[in-house]
Amino acid sequence: MPSIRFNRNRVRLKRILGIRARLALLAVILVAPLMFERARSLESARSRQIALASEEFSTLVKHSADTQREVIMSVETLLKSSAYIRASAAGIGRSCDMLRASLPLNLPWIRNIMIAGQDGRVQCSTDNNDVGLDVSGRSYFRKAQETRNFVFSDFMLARPEQKPIIMAAYPVSAITGEPSAVMLAAVNLAWMSKIMSNLDGRPGISAVLVDRAGTVLAAPSDQANLVGRSLDSVPLLSAIAETAMSSDHNEGSMSFAAADGSRRGITFTRIADTGSRLIVSIDETRVTAAIDQDIRTAYLQAGFVCLFVLLGALIAAEQLIVKPINLLAATAKRFGLGDWSARATTARLPAEFMPLAKAFNAMAAKLAQRERELVEANDQLTVIASIDMLSGLANRRGFQSRLDFEWIRAQQHGGELSLLMIDVDHFKLFNDTYGHPEGDVCLRQIGETLSEIAASSMGFAGRYGGEEFCLLIPNAGAERALEIGEIVRMAVLDLALPHMTSGHQCVTVSVGVACARPNPSLAPVDLIEAADAALYAAKHRGRNAVVAHGFVQIVEDGTDALRAL
Ligand code: GH3
Ligand code: MG
Ligand code: MG
Repeated sequence: MPSIRFNRNRVRLKRILGIRARLALLAVILVAPLMFERARSLESARSRQIALASEEFSTLVKHSADTQREVIMSVETLLKSSAYIRASAAGIGRSCDMLRASLPLNLPWIRNIMIAGQDGRVQCSTDNNDVGLDVSGRSYFRKAQETRNFVFSDFMLARPEQKPIIMAAYPVSAITGEPSAVMLAAVNLAWMSKIMSNLDGRPGISAVLVDRAGTVLAAPSDQANLVGRSLDSVPLLSAIAETAMSSDHNEGSMSFAAADGSRRGITFTRIADTGSRLIVSIDETRVTAAIDQDIRTAYLQAGFVCLFVLLGALIAAEQLIVKPINLLAATAKRFGLGDWSARATTARLPAEFMPLAKAFNAMAAKLAQRERELVEANDQLTVIASIDMLSGLANRRGFQSRLDFEWIRAQQHGGELSLLMIDVDHFKLFNDTYGHPEGDVCLRQIGETLSEIAASSMGFAGRYGGEEFCLLIPNAGAERALEIGEIVRMAVLDLALPHMTSGHQCVTVSVGVACARPNPSLAPVDLIEAADAALYAAKHRGRNAVVAHGFVQIVEDGTDALRAL
């Protein structure tokens, strides 16, 4: 049982692994290393692109942070120089004039500069509306006085237009060492946002500048609505707000899964002296999505190439192998059906199949030649089988087939057909008297005579069997048949073959004549039986006589008489 199953499986496998499948497999084996190499290069291109994107991202963040730092430093420098002015100038009036005169126009992010007295009341401002304002309660003011250092406030809104600003404070006491005025500058956060414009419009990137308390100070224009909001309330950044804000490090980066399921990378950088941080988040999935899209397209192209190679292999297999095989098989099939004229057309075959096709054609030519020879031999055998070797006439078989043929022909043309049955009289006695070989000679001579009569009467002579002959005469009526019967009787008599034990002293024949107009109600055998009956009558009448079926012709010593029975 297991061996049967194994064989069955082997046959099934063979069927599956047809020539097309094998060639397709070969094509796959050839293409596979190339595709593998292509996949490998695509994957490394993907990693390279991701690395490039992350490098670009880092550069962007660094550039943005550097610019923020420059802004802060410019504020710091301005306040320090203003503090010097205040420290060196005698009175507030003069300091104020100098301050107003020195406010550089190329620092548009500085909204205004103020001098607050030790009591916290604004004594001088580049914006007159601020003069008299009390900032003593503000934390940045107090902290600047306490620390005698540069201080930045958290996010605040400037009155009256409610614009987001941060305040920078630098106490004159940092220079003089004595409690004194504090220099103040309001930094326009809209400008900080402008500085972040390089992070603007980048898919998957969100950037914010947040103060110590986690309030968004600035953001690129496409995320401007975040300004003034707490980092906790920013959807994609709330998750890292605490970590980013509580980090002791000046810079850092981390990766996390955001609430929307995206994988996000975070980079934060502290802006020196301010306590604010630039936090930039990147949606790794969106950044890699574009790269993945490119990679997918490349894979698709590679897939198509593979498909085309496979299709090409299949078409080539069809054209170069399967089709020629089918062509040869069709030719072989025609050979099988006996059509030896079929030839494999070499013009339509690839060169590799030429020898096979030529061998096929040579085989067909040889077999056709053999068949011709066989047919010829068979024809000769048929002729030999139909001829009587002694008399040279057709034998009974040959006669029978000729009778059938003539019968059909006469039936088709509505003509008559006559048959003469000729029997040698007292031939047994002849044999007994002269011997069998002499009997054969006698029969041969009678055969030659009949052959001549057949030729002259458009008839067909045969040896029906033993010493009995027959003569078939197409298109002859009873009268003509009787005449020919008489000719036969006379011709044999004229041979004058001695037969001393016969009453006539020479060899004579009796002839039975029958004539018919073949039709469907008659058969050839009827004609034979009629002729036989007439022959019997001729014998009965004394031999050496011609008798027609239905008529009797008695011939006596050369005197012809015809009368009805
Ligand atoms: P009938 O006049 O009534 O025809 O008498 P018959 O003797 O001719 O007829 P019968 O049928 O008695 O004898 C036929 C003889 O013909 C017997 C046989 O030896 C002989 N015969 C048949 N075929 C051949 C042959 O091929 N050669 C020879 N020599 N004799 C043959
Ligand atoms: Mg006989
Ligand atoms: Mg006889």
